[in-house]
Amino acid sequence: MVTKSCTEKKRFDSEIEARRERIHIEKEFKKKYRIYECNECNGWHFSTIN
Ligand SMILES: [Zn+2]
Repeated sequence: MVTKSCTEKKRFDSEIEARRERIHIEKEFKKKYRIYECNECNGWHFSTIN
């Protein structure tokens, strides 16, 4: 089951894909992001590190 909050997030099919995108996102937003595997959609998402 895929929750609504899950589908609203940026989703990646693989960790490699997510890592590649993270490089750009971290530069753009000047923040650090953590990559995690999602149990709901079996994809990968970012979460911010505070
Ligand atoms: Zn998900």
